[in-house]
Amino acid sequence: MRAHAFIDWDDTLAENIGFFRQAIEAMVDLISRELGLEPHVVAETGNRLDLEIARTMGLTRQSFPTAWSACYRELCHRVGREPDPGVLRQVRAHADWAYEQPQRLLDGAEPLLRWCRQEGFEVVIWTAGDPEVQRAKVVRSGLARLVDAVYTVSRKTPATLREHLDGRPSHLTVVVGNSLSSDVQPALANGVWAVHVPADTWEYDHAPVNVAHPLYRQAGSLREVPVLLATLLPRRTA
Ligand SMILES: [Mg+2]
Repeated sequence: MRAHAFIDWDDTLAENIGFFRQAIEAMVDLISRELGLEPHVVAETGNRLDLEIARTMGLTRQSFPTAWSACYRELCHRVGREPDPGVLRQVRAHADWAYEQPQRLLDGAEPLLRWCRQEGFEVVIWTAGDPEVQRAKVVRSGLARLVDAVYTVSRKTPATLREHLDGRPSHLTVVVGNSLSSDVQPALANGVWAVHVPADTWEYDHAPVNVAHPLYRQAGSLREVPVLLATLLPRRTA
C-alpha cells in the first residue's frame, strides 16, 4: 500500500508570483508613460485581460505575454493611437523575463520532498503551465532526484486531476498546494485529501472552499506539511 502525493510547484515549493508582479509593474509603467494614462487604468486593463486569457487559454507559456500585448493594443485603441511595434517588443520582453528568472525554493520544500521519499510516497509534481518550462524548473532546482513524475497541464481542474490520478486509491492520495481553485477544489471534487499551504496568490487562484470539508486541511507553512501527511496517510509499511 503506497501513498501518493501530488504536490504543486509554483508558489508552493518555489517562488514564482513575485517575478510576475515585477514584470507587471514594469509593463504598467511603460504603457502608462507611452500613452499618457494613469497607471491604475493600465493595471486594471492588463489584470482583467490576464485573468480572461488564463481562464480561456489556460496557463500556457504565451498567456501572460499575450494578455499584456492585448492590453497595450486595447489602450492604444482607446486613446486613438496606432500600436508601436517597438513598445510591443518591450512589453513582450518584460513578460518573457518573468519566465526566465531562476526560482528560489521556498523554506521547507526540500525537507518535504525528502520526507515523502523516506516514507515511501510516490512524489508527483502536479503543476500548471508549459510542460517544457515547468520540467526545466524542477530540473534546475536540483530536486528532480526526489520526484517520481512531473505532470503538467494548462489548467488544473477536477477533470484533469481525475485523468492524472489514473485510478490511484483516493484514501491514499493527497494534493498539496497553495491554490484554492487549482489545487484544493479539484482534490475535494475527486475525494482525495487536500492540504492547502496558503501563499500570496492572484485572482486566478481564488475560490470559495468549504474549510469544514472532511478532506480539507490547512498547513500553517510548508514545514508543517509532513506532520499533517503523517496523520492523514498510512506509511510505507502500514
Ligand atoms: Mg501554485
